[in-house]
Amino acid sequence: MHDIIIIGGGPAGLTAGLYAGRAKLKTLLIEQMVAGGQAATTDLLENYPGAPEGSTGPDLTERMEEQAKKFGCEFVMGEVTGVDLSGKEKVVTTNVGEFKSKAVIITSGATHRKLGCPGEEDLIGGGVSFCATCDAAFFEDLPVAVVGGGDSAISAAIYLTKFASRVYVIHRRDALRATKVVQEKAFANPKIEIVWDSVVDEIKGSETVEALKLKNVKTGEFSELPVDGVFMYIGLVPNTKFLQGQVKINPAGYIPVTANMETDVPGVFAAGDVTAKLLRQVVTAVGDGATAAVAAEKYIEDNF
Ligand code: NAP
Repeated sequence: MHDIIIIGGGPAGLTAGLYAGRAKLKTLLIEQMVAGGQAATTDLLENYPGAPEGSTGPDLTERMEEQAKKFGCEFVMGEVTGVDLSGKEKVVTTNVGEFKSKAVIITSGATHRKLGCPGEEDLIGGGVSFCATCDAAFFEDLPVAVVGGGDSAISAAIYLTKFASRVYVIHRRDALRATKVVQEKAFANPKIEIVWDSVVDEIKGSETVEALKLKNVKTGEFSELPVDGVFMYIGLVPNTKFLQGQVKINPAGYIPVTANMETDVPGVFAAGDVTAKLLRQVVTAVGDGATAAVAAEKYIEDNF
């Protein structure tokens, strides 16, 4: 049996692994893909302190993984399919086996929301993408669109200008949600054109994306925008499906936690983007992960 099982290997989970490892707790981190979470697919992190020139997401998260491993955190690649958190001994079921521990830290993060319009599902991999840093290079000198007006959408649009001939940002309102400094960069970029007050009604194309059917929400008018790719950045959906009925989850799907990252179940903690909170960034995720690990250590000391 492990002392702590960490579910999810983004910045929150990797930091929890580092702190639990340094506390000499037998720690297992379960991650279904490559460690690093969403941060690993982020081109440039300009707001993580200590790097005024910015850090790249993959570099920062690879170093976090290396540091957690250095202090003894074990890693396993697998998908968590269910949990039983009700007893003193916690059980985590995955597609590569069952694991048991005294405490669990949930750092399963969030994934990109889908738009749900016609054409989206069929053209995933054919020009519909959820990751600009992964797919931007396929659109060298081609026009693309980004849907959304938050930090993720506008940062992706700026990154895409390194490759695409033109980047249209389709936003449903007349003001962006992204941080002001990110907005200013986008406004100053001659390759970016913002299509205000508009939503995507349909993604057209037989094998690959050919055009977007747009609707202006103020005038009700439809128009067609020829593009070769469309990048969806319309917010996040928390990864909490596997927890149904096990810990308290709010109506939006996030886990409410105390200041010490405790869920409503003794011995179960949560940290990072999966929790109900104001700011979902690497800088808050790592703090949450450290707190969760120390709180879990104290829980184990008091209960075992
Ligand atoms: P977000 O901040 O929730 O923004 C989602 C955007 O998509 C909003 O502009 C929203 O429009 C739009 N949207 C939502 N549903 C839509 C729909 N059905 N159709 C059309 N548009 C829709 O999500 P995010 O940009 O992914 O960011 C998530 C969190 O990560 C935020 O806390 C963000 O600050 C953080 N983040 C930070 C950084 C950074 O600091 N470097 C980078 C990336 C993300 P409205 O504005 O009208 O609601």
